[in-house]
Amino acid sequence: MLVKVKDVLSLRGLSVGARLLLINALMLLALGIVSVIAWHALDVQGRAMDELATISKAARYHQDADTLHATLRADVNRAQLSASLTPAERDALGADIDSSANDLRRDLQTLDRLNLPPEILESEQKVRRLAESFLSHAVDVGRIALRDPRGAEQSMPAMEAASKDLRGAMDLQTVMMSRHVVSANDDAATAATLAKQWIVGAFLATTLATGLLVALVSASIRSSLRRVRDVANAMKTGELGVRCQTTGRDELGQLARALNAMADQVSSMILQLRADAERDAFGTQLVEALEMSDSEEEVHVAIARAMTVVDPNMPMELLIADSSRAHLERATSHPRAGAPGCGVESPFSCVAVRRGNPVAFPDSEALNACARLRGRPGGPVSAACVPVSFMGRSLGVLHATGVPGVAVSALQLSQLTTLGIQSGARIGTVRAFQKTQRQASTDSLTGLLNRRSVEETVRTLAAEGQHYAILLADLDHFKKLNDTRGHEAGDNALRQFADVLRKTLRGHDSAARWGGEEFVVVLPRVDAGGAVEIANRIRANLAEALLVGGSPVFTASFGVADSSMSDRLEQLIRVADDALYTAKDAGRDRAIIGNPGNVVASVPRRAMEHPATVDIALVANNG
Ligand code: GH3
Ligand code: MG
Ligand code: MG
Repeated sequence: MLVKVKDVLSLRGLSVGARLLLINALMLLALGIVSVIAWHALDVQGRAMDELATISKAARYHQDADTLHATLRADVNRAQLSASLTPAERDALGADIDSSANDLRRDLQTLDRLNLPPEILESEQKVRRLAESFLSHAVDVGRIALRDPRGAEQSMPAMEAASKDLRGAMDLQTVMMSRHVVSANDDAATAATLAKQWIVGAFLATTLATGLLVALVSASIRSSLRRVRDVANAMKTGELGVRCQTTGRDELGQLARALNAMADQVSSMILQLRADAERDAFGTQLVEALEMSDSEEEVHVAIARAMTVVDPNMPMELLIADSSRAHLERATSHPRAGAPGCGVESPFSCVAVRRGNPVAFPDSEALNACARLRGRPGGPVSAACVPVSFMGRSLGVLHATGVPGVAVSALQLSQLTTLGIQSGARIGTVRAFQKTQRQASTDSLTGLLNRRSVEETVRTLAAEGQHYAILLADLDHFKKLNDTRGHEAGDNALRQFADVLRKTLRGHDSAARWGGEEFVVVLPRVDAGGAVEIANRIRANLAEALLVGGSPVFTASFGVADSSMSDRLEQLIRVADDALYTAKDAGRDRAIIGNPGNVVASVPRRAMEHPATVDIALVANNG
């Protein structure tokens, strides 16, 4: 009950405008009440004053009538003694008697017309009756006495009796009127006092009541403003979940709604910023992890770890196309949740790859869901597929599945997209880097290592303290082959020789194209004798390959050296080169072991044959 009264007094249902209007109405009401009370009090006072004035007027006429009664009686008595008067004086006295009689009658008539209390009116009528009787006697006696004083004497007692009666009645009326004048005077004074008290009282009471009500209305407005202020303060300190409960349509309600809308906006912006920051942090960490992955295998490990960050329990897999770009193979999957097992076979059978954009499927059973999501062993799923590409070339697809009917969250889809983009970028970069490295270390025509690579191999063997042998091979009469069969046939011959080397050598042997139609083979843990055997095996395999392939026949000569002859590659090359020269001279198509004693400090023949690779400093020193 108390709460209800408090609710009503709080005026929460009223708008601010209505509450201000209420204050105005209360002020006007208070003014009206004070005016009515003042009007009533002044009216009462006015009536008392009117009554006093009427009574006072009546008293004056009464006094006047009393005087005229005495004057008339005196004039009649003078008329009795009129014998000594002149005729003119008697006429004047007769006129005075008539005039006084008329005045007395007029005064009494006036009194009769006044609005007097009934008691006085009753007495007045009696006075008037007695006055008429006295007047008729007095006028008659006066006229007779002016003509015949003796004759008037007998009428005098009757006049005196009427005068006495009138005197008695007028005295009574005088007393009555005096009493009424005093009473009316008191009434008027009381009415004036009461009027003052009423006006002051009404003013004080209405001022107090109005003040209380205005304070109440002001408090209700302040309380509404305080609620909005408290919410604004809470928002200022970061409590963005609080909202104003004010629902009115007035300015305060509009302010509260604007504040709520502002809080909604700020909250969603903060959520967005947090999501962006989370995604950015994921993206930054992912890029750093991928930067540290130098091989494709390491990239796959980093991607698998990133999958657990996107969701610890969501099955995911990275399907990457093989070198033919025709088949997708699973490169990696979620370490804990495993792979969703998408059956897509080639990149362009995947809708995400075809569209070139991430695709989310809230429900695998939906009409527009990817057909490959249906019939999975685990039943219906939701899914997200992100294409993986590098410089516009499709590499594969990142695939994740979740609970059916629940789409992958916006943040997860965004993280999967980042993962797809960064995976493609890193895999593409690693592949490009490996390709560049391969190109830098191999000979493009034959696919064998190049000179720099073989030098590196020998340096490693020397550093490890391993012994090894080298074969320096040169195709015989190759110029002639070029000249007779054409340059293309020459290139084919070089490729065929390289194939023979690859087939003949063991895994840890290294074969390189040294330049032109010359090759170097490094044979770890082999001495010069063993190297000659290998050279002879190469020669035999070459002959066989050429026979089987029906290609132009050519042979190769070999110079052999081993690490027991020198610990420097250049010197070994010189020894092998010298042996090769010897083999050529001896008729070609053979392998000869070099003699280090023949080539000490001599300029290698091979270097002279290939000016582009001449060591200028060496030539200058020897020149
Ligand atoms: P020898 O038996 O004494 O070694 O005689 P040769 O003809 O093999 O030796 P020469 O040094 O006179 O000729 C080498 C030829 O190899 C010259 C050049 O045209 C050819 N040649 C070098 N590099 C290539 C290549 O990459 N492709 C082709 N087709 N020919 C090449
Ligand atoms: Mg040559
Ligand atoms: Mg040659």
